[in-house]
Amino acid sequence: MKEIPFARPLIGDAERRAVMSVLDGPILVHGPLSKQFEADFEGFTGAPYAVSCSSCTAAMHLTYVALGIGAGDEVVTPAQTHASTAHAVALTGATPIFAEADPRTGNIDPDAVEACLTERTKAIAVVHYLGRAVEMDRIMAIAERHGLKVIEDCALAIGTTFDGRHAGTIGDAGCFSFYPVKHITTAEGGMCITRHADLAQKLRLLRAFCVDRTPGERTVPGIYDVVGLGFNYRMNEIQAALGITQLKRVKDFLQAREANFTALSAKLAAIPDIEVLGTGSDARHGSSHYCLSMLLNGPLAAKRFEMVAALKARGVGTSVYYPKPVPHMTYYRERFGFDLGTFPAAARLSNESIALPVGPHLGVEDMAYIAESVKAAIEEVR
Ligand SMILES: *Cc1c(COP(=O)(O)O)cnc(C)c1O
Repeated sequence: MKEIPFARPLIGDAERRAVMSVLDGPILVHGPLSKQFEADFEGFTGAPYAVSCSSCTAAMHLTYVALGIGAGDEVVTPAQTHASTAHAVALTGATPIFAEADPRTGNIDPDAVEACLTERTKAIAVVHYLGRAVEMDRIMAIAERHGLKVIEDCALAIGTTFDGRHAGTIGDAGCFSFYPVKHITTAEGGMCITRHADLAQKLRLLRAFCVDRTPGERTVPGIYDVVGLGFNYRMNEIQAALGITQLKRVKDFLQAREANFTALSAKLAAIPDIEVLGTGSDARHGSSHYCLSMLLNGPLAAKRFEMVAALKARGVGTSVYYPKPVPHMTYYRERFGFDLGTFPAAARLSNESIALPVGPHLGVEDMAYIAESVKAAIEEVR
């Protein structure tokens, strides 16, 4: 039997050498590699400023704090996303106001965003769902009309573009994740990109205690001042060494993902009772093809866990994005009292989809095997 894991980080000799050379030297934090990774990331995305962080969640939290968003403020937040997108808002004391998903793509529905606005709204958070860009022209038009900030959760959006612009460069800030199952990894890690010099400056202060000078900038060792209430959200040199090496491979990774996604979509199109969620590329949207979300139609929808088990028995790893709409997660439900009938489009994705792997650890021949396995699994559970 074939073994097809849902995701696997691709760590090679170059990554091992890069990490070992950090360990062989004296500098583990505040070194040249985190600066180099930031510069490389600016080059890759076209963003004027990139600020490395300890995770995507940390990057988003820092961004809201740096923008002065907090208690009494509201941020429109997608209902269908990782809890992190909403947590980053809630951690500041601000209130996430959840907006429904577009059932065709899983992305935040711009009409739903408009319906969430109040005089307390300060920002709109979007997530490029499974690597397919949000309708950023419509989101930016709403933001401009109402004087709102836009924060892009780009955790799955390295390589994602909208009208040729990289995700994260259209709103006020874009935050990326380098968690192991993402497009590139630093084990844990994140990056915030922005076109605002003053925001980048605030992010750098806030990620390191709001200390006014880095060790390299101190004329007398150990002497510094603290100018605000900050965090310890830095990326270290081991992570940065991994990131620099992985970013060199990202174009190859993205090409493999696209080839796999295209092959698997074509094969699944011929199978009845399923459909492929529209997270691929088209004229305006360049997808990063994080995974392929397969929607189960009709009676098959109630057999999702049997389908997952039947695929697992054939060695096909799967996942679910995301297990519940965020407002249906216990914490948010207890806090806001949403019932399970709200956000039906987001709930359909949570309850009736299976995420199939298309990562660069797999080849096009694996896609044929996955499609055959889906066909066989449907027959088996029917
Ligand atoms: C993984 C993920 C995050 C969290 O990223 P971390 O780097 O683990 O903090 C946030 N948002 C989305 C959409 C994600 O998929």
